[in-house]
Amino acid sequence: MIRIATAGYQHESNTFSSIPASLDLWRRSGILEDAPSIRAEYATSQSTLAGFFAVAEVDPEVELVPLFFTRLMPMGALTREAAEFIFERIVAAIRDHGPWDAVLLPLHGAAVSVPWPDADGELVRRVREIVGPGVPIGVALDMHANIAQQLVDNADIVTVYQTNPHIDAYEMAMQCARLTLQTVRGKIRPTSALEMPPLLVNILCQGTSDAPMKDLLKVADTQRARPGVLSVSVVEGYPYADVAEMGMSFIAITDNDPALARDAARQMALAAWGMREALNQGGTSIDAALQRAQAAPAGPVVLFDVGDNVGGGSPGDSTHILHAARRLGVRALLQAVCDPAVVGLCQAAGVGGRIEASVGGKSDGMHGAPFAIQGRVTALSDGCYEETGPTHGGFRFFNDGPSCAVRTDDGYTLVLTSRSAGSSSLQQFRTLGIEPTAMKIIVAKGVHSPRPAMEPIAKEMIWVATPGVTTADLATFTYRQRRVPLYPLEPDARWP
Ligand SMILES: [Zn+2]
Repeated sequence: MIRIATAGYQHESNTFSSIPASLDLWRRSGILEDAPSIRAEYATSQSTLAGFFAVAEVDPEVELVPLFFTRLMPMGALTREAAEFIFERIVAAIRDHGPWDAVLLPLHGAAVSVPWPDADGELVRRVREIVGPGVPIGVALDMHANIAQQLVDNADIVTVYQTNPHIDAYEMAMQCARLTLQTVRGKIRPTSALEMPPLLVNILCQGTSDAPMKDLLKVADTQRARPGVLSVSVVEGYPYADVAEMGMSFIAITDNDPALARDAARQMALAAWGMREALNQGGTSIDAALQRAQAAPAGPVVLFDVGDNVGGGSPGDSTHILHAARRLGVRALLQAVCDPAVVGLCQAAGVGGRIEASVGGKSDGMHGAPFAIQGRVTALSDGCYEETGPTHGGFRFFNDGPSCAVRTDDGYTLVLTSRSAGSSSLQQFRTLGIEPTAMKIIVAKGVHSPRPAMEPIAKEMIWVATPGVTTADLATFTYRQRRVPLYPLEPDARWP
Protein backbone atom coordinates (compact mmCIF):
# COMPACT_ATOMS: atom_id res chain seq x y z
CA MET A 1 0.00 0.00 0.00
CA ILE A 2 1.21 3.51 -0.83
CA ARG A 3 0.22 5.87 1.98
CA ILE A 4 -0.04 9.52 1.04
CA ALA A 5 -0.81 12.39 3.41
CA THR A 6 -2.53 15.52 2.20
CA ALA A 7 -2.68 18.72 4.21
CA GLY A 8 -2.67 22.37 3.35
CA TYR A 9 -4.01 25.88 3.57
CA GLN A 10 -4.78 28.40 0.88
CA HIS A 11 -4.37 32.13 1.10
CA GLU A 12 -3.68 34.95 -1.30
CA SER A 13 -2.29 37.70 0.95
CA ASN A 14 -2.73 41.31 -0.15
CA THR A 15 -0.08 43.07 1.90
CA PHE A 16 -1.69 46.45 1.11
CA SER A 17 -4.95 45.41 2.78
CA SER A 18 -5.63 46.81 6.24
CA ILE A 19 -7.32 43.58 7.45
CA PRO A 20 -4.86 40.97 8.82
CA ALA A 21 -5.65 37.27 8.30
CA SER A 22 -5.91 36.55 12.03
CA LEU A 23 -6.33 33.13 13.60
CA ASP A 24 -9.82 34.14 14.65
CA LEU A 25 -10.79 34.77 11.00
CA TRP A 26 -9.28 31.43 9.95
CA ARG A 27 -11.30 29.69 12.66
CA ARG A 28 -14.49 31.43 11.56
CA SER A 29 -13.80 30.47 7.95
CA GLY A 30 -13.45 26.82 9.04
CA ILE A 31 -10.41 24.72 9.92
CA LEU A 32 -10.96 21.07 9.00
CA GLU A 33 -8.79 18.50 10.77
CA ASP A 34 -10.56 15.22 10.15
CA ALA A 35 -10.88 13.15 7.00
CA PRO A 36 -14.70 12.91 6.88
CA SER A 37 -15.24 16.68 7.00
CA ILE A 38 -12.50 17.39 4.45
CA ARG A 39 -14.03 14.81 2.11
CA ALA A 40 -17.56 16.11 2.64
CA GLU A 41 -16.55 19.68 1.85
CA TYR A 42 -14.22 19.10 -1.10
CA ALA A 43 -14.45 15.62 -2.64
CA THR A 44 -17.38 16.56 -4.91
CA SER A 45 -16.00 19.97 -5.84
CA GLN A 46 -13.65 20.72 -8.74
CA SER A 47 -10.90 22.04 -6.46
CA THR A 48 -7.34 20.86 -5.88
CA LEU A 49 -8.27 18.44 -3.10
CA ALA A 50 -10.89 16.81 -5.32
CA GLY A 51 -8.20 16.14 -7.93
CA PHE A 52 -6.01 14.44 -5.31
CA PHE A 53 -8.97 12.31 -4.17
CA ALA A 54 -9.78 11.35 -7.76
CA VAL A 55 -6.29 9.99 -8.47
CA ALA A 56 -6.22 8.00 -5.22
CA GLU A 57 -9.67 6.56 -5.77
CA VAL A 58 -8.86 4.79 -9.03
CA ASP A 59 -5.55 3.36 -7.78
CA PRO A 60 -6.11 0.30 -5.57
CA GLU A 61 -2.59 0.56 -4.16
CA VAL A 62 -3.04 4.12 -2.88
CA GLU A 63 -4.41 5.27 0.44
CA LEU A 64 -4.81 9.05 0.58
CA VAL A 65 -5.24 10.44 4.09
CA PRO A 66 -6.56 13.99 4.40
CA LEU A 67 -5.21 15.52 7.62
CA PHE A 68 -5.81 19.25 7.56
CA PHE A 69 -7.29 21.86 5.28
CA THR A 70 -8.36 25.45 5.61
CA ARG A 71 -8.74 28.39 3.31
CA LEU A 72 -9.56 32.01 3.85
CA MET A 73 -10.62 34.65 1.40
CA PRO A 74 -7.89 37.03 0.28
CA MET A 75 -7.10 39.86 2.70
CA GLY A 76 -3.96 41.08 4.48
CA ALA A 77 -1.01 38.92 5.51
CA LEU A 78 -1.39 36.11 8.03
CA THR A 79 -0.60 37.13 11.58
CA ARG A 80 2.33 35.34 13.16
CA GLU A 81 -0.11 33.51 15.44
CA ALA A 82 -2.22 32.27 12.52
CA ALA A 83 0.77 31.10 10.50
CA GLU A 84 2.38 29.34 13.48
CA PHE A 85 -0.90 27.60 14.28
CA ILE A 86 -1.42 26.37 10.72
CA PHE A 87 2.21 25.29 10.22
CA GLU A 88 2.34 23.46 13.54
CA ARG A 89 -0.96 21.66 13.10
CA ILE A 90 0.03 20.47 9.62
CA VAL A 91 3.53 19.41 10.62
CA ALA A 92 2.25 17.66 13.79
CA ALA A 93 -0.43 15.77 11.85
CA ILE A 94 2.10 14.59 9.27
CA ARG A 95 4.57 13.58 11.99
CA ASP A 96 2.03 11.83 14.23
CA HIS A 97 0.24 9.81 11.54
CA GLY A 98 3.27 8.73 9.48
CA PRO A 99 5.28 7.13 8.05
CA TRP A 100 4.28 8.27 4.57
CA ASP A 101 5.31 7.31 1.05
CA ALA A 102 4.48 10.81 -0.20
CA VAL A 103 2.86 14.09 0.82
CA LEU A 104 0.55 16.20 -1.33
CA LEU A 105 0.16 19.86 -0.36
CA PRO A 106 -2.80 21.86 -1.73
CA LEU A 107 -1.46 25.42 -1.31
CA HIS A 108 -2.03 28.76 -3.01
CA GLY A 109 1.48 30.11 -3.38
CA ALA A 110 0.77 33.77 -2.56
CA ALA A 111 0.47 33.47 1.23
CA VAL A 112 2.49 35.97 3.23
CA SER A 113 3.00 36.09 6.96
CA VAL A 114 4.81 38.82 8.82
CA PRO A 115 7.84 36.73 9.85
CA TRP A 116 7.71 34.54 6.69
CA PRO A 117 7.18 36.54 3.49
CA ASP A 118 7.26 33.22 1.59
CA ALA A 119 4.76 31.50 3.87
CA ASP A 120 4.02 28.65 1.43
CA GLY A 121 7.73 27.97 0.98
CA GLU A 122 8.17 28.00 4.74
CA LEU A 123 5.51 25.31 5.17
CA VAL A 124 7.03 23.13 2.45
CA ARG A 125 10.44 23.54 4.09
CA ARG A 126 9.01 22.39 7.44
CA VAL A 127 7.24 19.42 5.87
CA ARG A 128 10.49 18.44 4.14
CA GLU A 129 12.24 18.63 7.50
CA ILE A 130 9.72 16.19 9.01
CA VAL A 131 9.53 13.62 6.20
CA GLY A 132 13.21 13.74 5.20
CA PRO A 133 14.76 13.85 1.72
CA GLY A 134 13.46 10.46 0.50
CA VAL A 135 9.70 11.12 0.61
CA PRO A 136 8.29 12.81 -2.51
CA ILE A 137 6.39 16.04 -1.90
CA GLY A 138 3.91 17.27 -4.50
CA VAL A 139 2.65 20.84 -4.30
CA ALA A 140 -0.32 22.17 -6.28
CA LEU A 141 -0.52 25.97 -6.55
CA ASP A 142 -2.73 28.73 -7.85
CA MET A 143 -1.67 30.64 -10.98
CA HIS A 144 -1.32 33.80 -8.82
CA ALA A 145 1.49 32.22 -6.81
CA ASN A 146 4.61 34.28 -6.12
CA ILE A 147 7.09 31.44 -6.18
CA ALA A 148 10.45 31.53 -4.42
CA GLN A 149 13.34 29.13 -4.93
CA GLN A 150 12.84 27.73 -1.42
CA LEU A 151 9.49 26.18 -2.34
CA VAL A 152 10.76 24.57 -5.53
CA ASP A 153 13.89 23.29 -3.76
CA ASN A 154 11.89 21.53 -1.06
CA ALA A 155 9.29 19.97 -3.36
CA ASP A 156 9.66 17.18 -5.94
CA ILE A 157 6.69 18.21 -8.04
CA VAL A 158 5.14 21.67 -8.31
CA THR A 159 2.10 22.15 -10.53
CA VAL A 160 0.24 25.40 -11.10
CA TYR A 161 -3.21 26.12 -12.51
CA GLN A 162 -2.84 27.05 -16.17
CA THR A 163 -6.17 28.80 -16.58
CA ASN A 164 -7.42 32.14 -15.35
CA PRO A 165 -10.24 32.16 -14.36
CA HIS A 166 -9.07 29.01 -12.64
CA ILE A 167 -11.18 26.21 -14.04
CA ASP A 168 -8.42 23.56 -14.12
CA ALA A 169 -7.65 23.23 -10.40
CA TYR A 170 -8.91 19.65 -10.52
CA GLU A 171 -6.89 18.63 -13.60
CA MET A 172 -3.67 20.22 -12.36
CA ALA A 173 -4.08 18.54 -8.96
CA MET A 174 -4.47 15.21 -10.77
CA GLN A 175 -1.26 15.90 -12.67
CA CYS A 176 0.50 16.75 -9.40
CA ALA A 177 -0.74 13.55 -7.73
CA ARG A 178 0.11 11.35 -10.73
CA LEU A 179 3.67 12.68 -11.08
CA THR A 180 4.20 12.34 -7.33
CA LEU A 181 2.96 8.74 -7.48
CA GLN A 182 5.27 7.95 -10.40
CA THR A 183 8.11 9.34 -8.32
CA VAL A 184 7.14 7.08 -5.39
CA ARG A 185 7.13 4.11 -7.76
CA GLY A 186 10.57 5.03 -9.09
CA LYS A 187 9.29 5.50 -12.64
CA ILE A 188 10.57 9.07 -12.88
CA ARG A 189 13.24 11.17 -11.19
CA PRO A 190 11.85 14.69 -11.34
CA THR A 191 14.17 17.66 -11.46
CA SER A 192 12.83 21.22 -11.51
CA ALA A 193 13.96 24.64 -12.64
CA LEU A 194 12.44 27.99 -11.68
CA GLU A 195 12.98 31.06 -13.86
CA MET A 196 11.99 34.51 -12.54
CA PRO A 197 12.42 37.32 -15.07
CA PRO A 198 11.99 40.85 -13.60
CA LEU A 199 8.44 41.06 -14.90
CA LEU A 200 4.87 41.63 -13.74
CA VAL A 201 1.71 40.93 -15.63
CA ASN A 202 -1.07 43.43 -15.04
CA ILE A 203 -4.14 41.87 -13.48
CA LEU A 204 -6.16 43.00 -16.54
CA CYS A 205 -3.97 41.03 -18.92
CA GLN A 206 -4.11 37.76 -17.00
CA GLY A 207 -7.07 36.12 -18.73
CA THR A 208 -5.76 32.93 -20.32
CA SER A 209 -8.32 32.73 -23.11
CA ASP A 210 -7.18 36.07 -24.55
CA ALA A 211 -3.92 37.36 -26.01
CA PRO A 212 -1.23 37.83 -24.78
CA MET A 213 -1.56 35.09 -22.12
CA LYS A 214 -3.07 32.73 -24.66
CA ASP A 215 0.03 33.11 -26.83
CA LEU A 216 2.35 32.60 -23.91
CA LEU A 217 0.57 29.37 -23.02
CA LYS A 218 1.16 28.18 -26.59
CA VAL A 219 4.89 28.65 -25.98
CA ALA A 220 4.46 26.55 -22.84
CA ASP A 221 2.76 23.82 -24.92
CA THR A 222 5.81 23.74 -27.18
CA GLN A 223 8.09 23.24 -24.18
CA ARG A 224 5.73 20.62 -22.73
CA ALA A 225 6.03 18.61 -25.93
CA ARG A 226 9.83 18.24 -25.69
CA PRO A 227 10.89 14.66 -24.86
CA GLY A 228 11.83 14.34 -21.18
CA VAL A 229 9.69 17.27 -20.05
CA LEU A 230 7.17 16.15 -17.41
CA SER A 231 5.43 19.42 -16.65
CA VAL A 232 5.76 23.13 -17.34
CA SER A 233 3.99 26.00 -15.62
CA VAL A 234 3.43 29.60 -16.52
CA VAL A 235 2.87 31.44 -13.24
CA GLU A 236 1.24 34.86 -13.42
CA GLY A 237 2.12 35.94 -9.91
CA TYR A 238 0.19 38.20 -7.58
CA PRO A 239 1.16 41.88 -7.74
CA TYR A 240 -0.52 42.98 -4.49
CA ALA A 241 2.12 41.39 -2.29
CA ASP A 242 5.20 43.36 -1.33
CA VAL A 243 7.60 40.41 -1.23
CA ALA A 244 10.88 39.67 -2.97
CA GLU A 245 9.44 36.86 -5.11
CA MET A 246 6.48 38.92 -6.36
CA GLY A 247 6.08 38.64 -10.13
CA MET A 248 5.85 36.19 -12.98
CA SER A 249 7.74 32.92 -12.88
CA PHE A 250 8.14 29.78 -14.95
CA ILE A 251 8.67 26.21 -13.79
CA ALA A 252 9.79 23.23 -15.82
CA ILE A 253 10.08 19.69 -14.48
CA THR A 254 11.99 17.06 -16.42
CA ASP A 255 12.85 13.43 -15.89
CA ASN A 256 16.34 13.70 -14.42
CA ASP A 257 17.56 16.30 -16.93
CA PRO A 258 18.44 19.55 -15.11
CA ALA A 259 19.78 21.26 -18.26
CA LEU A 260 16.54 20.59 -20.15
CA ALA A 261 14.50 21.88 -17.18
CA ARG A 262 16.56 25.09 -17.09
CA ASP A 263 16.25 25.59 -20.81
CA ALA A 264 12.48 24.96 -20.92
CA ALA A 265 11.86 27.43 -18.08
CA ARG A 266 14.19 29.93 -19.75
CA GLN A 267 12.44 29.70 -23.14
CA MET A 268 9.08 30.53 -21.57
CA ALA A 269 10.55 33.43 -19.59
CA LEU A 270 12.20 34.85 -22.73
CA ALA A 271 8.89 34.63 -24.61
CA ALA A 272 7.09 36.46 -21.78
CA TRP A 273 9.79 39.13 -21.68
CA GLY A 274 9.23 39.72 -25.38
CA MET A 275 5.53 40.29 -24.68
CA ARG A 276 6.10 42.58 -21.70
CA GLU A 277 4.27 45.59 -23.13
CA ALA A 278 1.24 43.57 -24.11
CA LEU A 279 1.22 41.96 -20.66
CA ASN A 280 0.84 45.39 -19.03
CA GLN A 281 -2.14 47.25 -20.52
CA GLY A 282 -4.59 49.25 -18.37
CA GLY A 283 -8.42 49.27 -18.11
CA THR A 284 -11.31 51.56 -19.11
CA SER A 285 -12.16 54.60 -16.95
CA ILE A 286 -15.34 54.47 -14.85
CA ASP A 287 -17.16 57.15 -16.82
CA ALA A 288 -16.22 55.71 -20.20
CA ALA A 289 -17.32 52.23 -19.11
CA LEU A 290 -20.70 53.47 -17.84
CA GLN A 291 -21.32 55.53 -20.98
CA ARG A 292 -20.49 52.54 -23.18
CA ALA A 293 -22.78 50.31 -21.14
CA GLN A 294 -25.59 52.88 -21.25
CA ALA A 295 -25.27 53.19 -25.03
CA ALA A 296 -25.21 49.43 -25.63
CA PRO A 297 -28.27 48.24 -27.59
CA ALA A 298 -28.92 45.38 -25.16
CA GLY A 299 -27.82 44.09 -21.79
CA PRO A 300 -26.47 42.78 -19.65
CA VAL A 301 -23.23 44.67 -20.01
CA VAL A 302 -20.95 43.45 -17.24
CA LEU A 303 -18.58 45.96 -15.63
CA PHE A 304 -15.75 44.32 -13.69
CA ASP A 305 -14.86 46.43 -10.64
CA VAL A 306 -11.12 45.81 -10.71
CA GLY A 307 -10.20 47.97 -7.68
CA ASP A 308 -12.71 46.11 -5.50
CA ASN A 309 -11.67 42.60 -6.45
CA VAL A 310 -12.82 40.60 -3.45
CA GLY A 311 -10.96 37.59 -4.78
CA GLY A 312 -7.78 39.69 -4.63
CA GLY A 313 -8.21 41.02 -1.09
CA SER A 314 -10.61 43.97 -1.45
CA PRO A 315 -13.44 44.64 1.03
CA GLY A 316 -16.34 44.30 -1.45
CA ASP A 317 -17.97 47.58 -0.40
CA SER A 318 -16.71 49.92 -3.12
CA THR A 319 -19.12 52.59 -4.29
CA HIS A 320 -17.00 54.30 -6.95
CA ILE A 321 -19.09 52.97 -9.85
CA LEU A 322 -22.41 53.66 -8.08
CA HIS A 323 -21.54 57.31 -7.43
CA ALA A 324 -20.40 57.80 -11.02
CA ALA A 325 -23.57 56.12 -12.31
CA ARG A 326 -25.78 58.46 -10.30
CA ARG A 327 -23.78 61.48 -11.45
CA LEU A 328 -24.10 60.37 -15.10
CA GLY A 329 -27.78 59.43 -14.77
CA VAL A 330 -27.11 55.76 -15.50
CA ARG A 331 -29.86 53.87 -13.64
CA ALA A 332 -30.59 50.24 -14.50
CA LEU A 333 -27.65 48.75 -12.67
CA LEU A 334 -27.22 45.71 -10.43
CA GLN A 335 -24.39 45.44 -7.92
CA ALA A 336 -23.54 43.58 -4.73
CA VAL A 337 -22.14 45.61 -1.82
CA CYS A 338 -20.92 44.32 1.51
CA ASP A 339 -22.62 46.18 4.36
CA PRO A 340 -23.65 44.06 7.36
CA ALA A 341 -25.14 47.04 9.23
CA VAL A 342 -27.55 47.89 6.41
CA VAL A 343 -28.45 44.19 6.03
CA GLY A 344 -29.50 44.42 9.69
CA LEU A 345 -31.71 47.44 8.92
CA CYS A 346 -33.28 45.57 6.01
CA GLN A 347 -33.98 42.54 8.19
CA ALA A 348 -35.72 44.85 10.66
CA ALA A 349 -37.75 46.46 7.87
CA GLY A 350 -38.71 43.05 6.41
CA VAL A 351 -39.54 42.16 2.81
CA GLY A 352 -41.57 44.99 1.29
CA GLY A 353 -40.38 47.41 3.99
CA ARG A 354 -38.96 50.87 3.29
CA ILE A 355 -35.29 51.54 3.87
CA GLU A 356 -33.22 54.71 4.02
CA ALA A 357 -29.49 54.22 4.54
CA SER A 358 -25.96 54.86 3.38
CA VAL A 359 -24.51 51.78 1.75
CA GLY A 360 -20.89 50.63 1.46
CA GLY A 361 -17.70 52.69 1.43
CA LYS A 362 -17.11 52.01 5.12
CA SER A 363 -14.10 49.68 5.24
CA ASP A 364 -11.32 52.17 4.51
CA GLY A 365 -10.64 55.34 2.55
CA MET A 366 -9.86 53.64 -0.77
CA HIS A 367 -13.22 52.36 -1.95
CA GLY A 368 -15.47 55.43 -2.23
CA ALA A 369 -17.88 57.23 0.10
CA PRO A 370 -21.08 55.62 1.44
CA PHE A 371 -23.87 55.67 -1.16
CA ALA A 372 -27.14 57.16 0.14
CA ILE A 373 -30.25 55.22 -0.85
CA GLN A 374 -33.99 55.23 -0.31
CA GLY A 375 -35.89 52.20 -1.44
CA ARG A 376 -37.67 48.97 -0.69
CA VAL A 377 -36.42 45.60 0.55
CA THR A 378 -37.41 42.98 -2.04
CA ALA A 379 -35.88 39.82 -0.53
CA LEU A 380 -33.95 38.47 2.45
CA SER A 381 -31.76 35.36 2.63
CA ASP A 382 -29.08 33.62 4.69
CA GLY A 383 -26.62 34.29 1.84
CA CYS A 384 -25.84 30.61 1.25
CA TYR A 385 -25.99 29.23 -2.27
CA GLU A 386 -24.57 26.44 -4.35
CA GLU A 387 -23.10 26.61 -7.86
CA THR A 388 -22.81 23.37 -9.80
CA GLY A 389 -21.55 25.06 -12.97
CA PRO A 390 -17.92 26.07 -13.55
CA THR A 391 -16.47 28.43 -10.94
CA HIS A 392 -13.08 30.05 -10.40
CA GLY A 393 -11.07 27.55 -8.32
CA GLY A 394 -13.78 24.89 -8.71
CA PHE A 395 -15.57 25.82 -5.51
CA ARG A 396 -19.20 24.86 -5.06
CA PHE A 397 -20.60 26.23 -1.82
CA PHE A 398 -20.80 29.95 -1.14
CA ASN A 399 -21.75 31.87 1.99
CA ASP A 400 -22.11 35.65 1.73
CA GLY A 401 -23.60 35.84 5.24
CA PRO A 402 -27.14 37.22 5.83
CA SER A 403 -28.06 39.08 2.65
CA CYS A 404 -30.88 41.06 1.11
CA ALA A 405 -31.97 42.71 -2.10
CA VAL A 406 -32.99 46.36 -2.27
CA ARG A 407 -34.58 48.25 -5.12
CA THR A 408 -33.80 51.95 -4.77
CA ASP A 409 -36.31 54.62 -5.72
CA ASP A 410 -33.92 55.91 -8.37
CA GLY A 411 -33.59 52.57 -10.13
CA TYR A 412 -30.61 50.67 -8.70
CA THR A 413 -30.86 47.03 -7.70
CA LEU A 414 -28.48 46.26 -4.85
CA VAL A 415 -27.60 42.97 -3.24
CA LEU A 416 -26.33 43.68 0.26
CA THR A 417 -24.18 41.03 1.92
CA SER A 418 -22.77 40.64 5.43
CA ARG A 419 -19.47 39.21 4.23
CA SER A 420 -17.20 40.52 1.48
CA ALA A 421 -18.47 38.72 -1.58
CA GLY A 422 -17.37 38.60 -5.19
CA SER A 423 -19.79 37.62 -7.94
CA SER A 424 -18.66 34.09 -8.80
CA SER A 425 -22.13 32.69 -9.31
CA LEU A 426 -25.43 34.00 -10.68
CA GLN A 427 -27.06 32.20 -7.77
CA GLN A 428 -25.92 35.14 -5.64
CA PHE A 429 -28.64 37.15 -7.42
CA ARG A 430 -31.17 34.44 -8.20
CA THR A 431 -31.51 33.25 -4.59
CA LEU A 432 -32.68 36.80 -3.89
CA GLY A 433 -35.24 36.80 -6.67
CA ILE A 434 -33.16 38.88 -9.10
CA GLU A 435 -32.80 37.65 -12.68
CA PRO A 436 -29.42 38.96 -13.84
CA THR A 437 -30.17 38.39 -17.54
CA ALA A 438 -32.94 41.00 -17.27
CA MET A 439 -30.48 43.68 -16.13
CA LYS A 440 -28.94 46.30 -18.43
CA ILE A 441 -25.75 46.68 -16.38
CA ILE A 442 -24.21 44.33 -13.83
CA VAL A 443 -21.23 45.41 -11.73
CA ALA A 444 -19.20 42.33 -10.80
CA LYS A 445 -16.53 42.64 -8.15
CA GLY A 446 -13.44 40.96 -9.49
CA VAL A 447 -11.32 40.56 -12.58
CA HIS A 448 -11.37 36.88 -13.46
CA SER A 449 -13.39 35.14 -10.75
CA PRO A 450 -16.80 36.42 -11.94
CA ARG A 451 -16.08 35.54 -15.54
CA PRO A 452 -17.34 31.92 -15.62
CA ALA A 453 -20.67 33.18 -14.24
CA MET A 454 -20.93 36.36 -16.31
CA GLU A 455 -19.49 35.47 -19.70
CA PRO A 456 -22.41 33.20 -20.76
CA ILE A 457 -24.96 35.98 -20.17
CA ALA A 458 -22.92 39.10 -20.96
CA LYS A 459 -23.52 40.98 -24.20
CA GLU A 460 -20.32 42.86 -23.46
CA MET A 461 -17.69 42.78 -20.70
CA ILE A 462 -15.70 45.85 -19.65
CA TRP A 463 -12.82 45.87 -17.16
CA VAL A 464 -13.05 49.15 -15.25
CA ALA A 465 -9.97 50.90 -13.83
CA THR A 466 -11.51 51.67 -10.44
CA PRO A 467 -9.39 52.79 -7.48
CA GLY A 468 -9.01 50.40 -4.55
CA VAL A 469 -6.71 47.97 -2.85
CA THR A 470 -6.66 45.80 -5.99
CA THR A 471 -6.36 48.61 -8.52
CA ALA A 472 -4.75 47.74 -11.84
CA ASP A 473 -2.57 50.82 -11.42
CA LEU A 474 0.32 49.41 -9.41
CA ALA A 475 2.06 52.81 -9.27
CA THR A 476 -0.50 53.55 -6.51
CA PHE A 477 1.37 51.31 -4.07
CA THR A 478 4.61 51.86 -2.17
CA TYR A 479 6.64 48.66 -2.33
CA ARG A 480 9.60 48.11 -0.02
CA GLN A 481 10.50 44.43 -0.40
CA ARG A 482 9.98 43.74 -4.08
CA ARG A 483 12.85 43.18 -6.49
CA VAL A 484 14.24 46.17 -8.38
CA PRO A 485 14.03 46.44 -11.28
CA LEU A 486 10.65 44.99 -12.21
CA TYR A 487 8.95 45.82 -15.48
CA PRO A 488 6.71 47.89 -15.83
CA LEU A 489 7.42 49.67 -12.53
CA GLU A 490 10.90 50.29 -13.95
CA PRO A 491 10.08 50.69 -17.65
CA ASP A 492 13.76 50.57 -18.60
CA ALA A 493 14.39 47.23 -16.86
CA ARG A 494 16.77 45.02 -18.85
CA TRP A 495 16.86 41.25 -18.93
CA PRO A 496 18.44 38.75 -19.32
ZN1 LIG B 1 -5.68 32.90 -8.38
